[in-house]
Amino acid sequence: MIYPTSFLEIDAGALRENLKFLKRIAGKNRDILHVVKGNAYGHGIEQFVPLLQRLGANSFGVFDAYEAYRVKQVVHNQPRIIIMGMIDAHEIEWAIIHNIEFYVFDVYRLSKAIDLSKTIGKKAKVHIEVETGMNRTGFEWKDRQQLIKLLENDGQFLEVKGVCTHFAGAESIANYLRVKNQYKMFNKWTGFLDDAKVDYEQIHTACSAAAIRYPKTKMDMIRTGILQYGFWPSEETLIEYLKNKTRQRDPLRRVISWKSTVMSIKTVSKGDYVGYGTSYLASFDMVVATVPIGYAHGFARSLSNQGRVLIRGERTMVIGTVNMNMMVVDITNIKNVEPGDEVVIIGHQKDQSITVSSFSDFSSQLNYELLTRLPREIPRVVNGNGYS
Ligand SMILES: *Cc1c(COP(=O)(O)O)cnc(C)c1O
Repeated sequence: MIYPTSFLEIDAGALRENLKFLKRIAGKNRDILHVVKGNAYGHGIEQFVPLLQRLGANSFGVFDAYEAYRVKQVVHNQPRIIIMGMIDAHEIEWAIIHNIEFYVFDVYRLSKAIDLSKTIGKKAKVHIEVETGMNRTGFEWKDRQQLIKLLENDGQFLEVKGVCTHFAGAESIANYLRVKNQYKMFNKWTGFLDDAKVDYEQIHTACSAAAIRYPKTKMDMIRTGILQYGFWPSEETLIEYLKNKTRQRDPLRRVISWKSTVMSIKTVSKGDYVGYGTSYLASFDMVVATVPIGYAHGFARSLSNQGRVLIRGERTMVIGTVNMNMMVVDITNIKNVEPGDEVVIIGHQKDQSITVSSFSDFSSQLNYELLTRLPREIPRVVNGNGYS
């Protein structure tokens, strides 16, 4: 067999722990929408979604119809799938036929959903997204009468599964007022829809950060992404979560690890440069190893002379520039390294670990960004079944 130069390990046991935590946050009688957009935050829809389903998850939130299609290919028993973002007219038809729910956030989209339901003879399952202050997508307050008119005239062609909104940065206290105002605006919307006798099944607004920080936003369903992968939306969110806890322990476990191997080893004399250009000068006689991972694999070029990896249980540094497919690391002080030795880019080795957030310190990428930029062709390998 021939394999790519690195792989991503998905720890089923860690995911199981995180799902328990999510259940605790959700509480009884509240749904959890498992957000798997962005290729399941880089964890791989094709590997991660079946694992989630094995561990009892049965609702999946995606960004677009293509992701919904990918989810649908790997699940069984028709779980709930909600498209929270992009879907165009011909995809709406596909979604209606396959019971896939989707957000409608403007008159154009809602009219299309109605027209296609009529044509197909089957009700579209929609979530009405309302504008509350993020100013991205959502029906605007000034258009509310138009919305009501559409629903009054043609509501029988729709199942309104939900009314929803999204907060503009619940992970940061700096946005406290804005989030509070969004919450108020959302209540104004549901009050209005109730007065107009709009029939909807659920209301949902909370992402991970809102579910932790603003319990009232949890409503009928929380839409959680980042937490299930074992990451906090921000450090602030973790601190806030721990504030009133006696046990000061992070309840989440990272699900993903990224591993490669040592490709080649060589010595470099004091006074020589390493790699392209002059960004790294050996100030002593060194031993260096190449690792077959570069920016083409999602290891940012800004980690040149900054990144860290683990080899033989020791932490060491990237030296010189990160190339397209390779980087060089210093192994002068690590004994007995051989080609083929495991290199950990993210994850544990012996008692050392490298976290995704340590990357963001060096490359100013968010957790979310680093994860979702991991290329799809790096294999995702599930470790364990979650029931150890
Ligand atoms: C991504 C997303 C979420 C999940 O956000 P997390 O911070 O990862 O929990 C929830 N709702 C919507 C609409 C989203 O786009």
